[in-house]
Amino acid sequence: MPQCVFCKIIAKEIPARIAHEDETSIAFHDINPQAPVHVLVIPRKHFASAEDAGEADEPVLGHLHRVAAKLARELQLTAGYRIVVNTGAEAGQSVFHLHLHLLGGRPMRWPPG
Ligand code: AMP
Ligand code: ZN
Repeated sequence: MPQCVFCKIIAKEIPARIAHEDETSIAFHDINPQAPVHVLVIPRKHFASAEDAGEADEPVLGHLHRVAAKLARELQLTAGYRIVVNTGAEAGQSVFHLHLHLLGGRPMRWPPG
């Protein structure tokens, strides 16, 4: 998707602080962090959201979750962390390329805002 900011990060057309890369996914630090650790884990394949992923994409969705857990270990979020997927404008989604937010390093409140 030529206009997609996350596709541009995948293509290395715009810089990002990369935390993880493999053939299915990449992860990078959020440009506007909401916690001491705030990393985005995204598929290389462009989906606007999980609404656009089909049955054949289920391994990709599972992989993203495992990458987030691996990064949480590497980034020493031993006290806990939160994985967030904003889906749709009302939920606060602003970039329409599926991404997991990995947030940690501070206490989290519930319910989220
Ligand atoms: P969401 O609002 O759930 O769609 O999350 C999009 C996230 O992408 C926000 O937390 C933004 O701060 C982050 N973001 C947008 N552009 C960039 C960028 N170029 N590099 C890193 N993070 C970005
Ligand atoms: Zn994209």
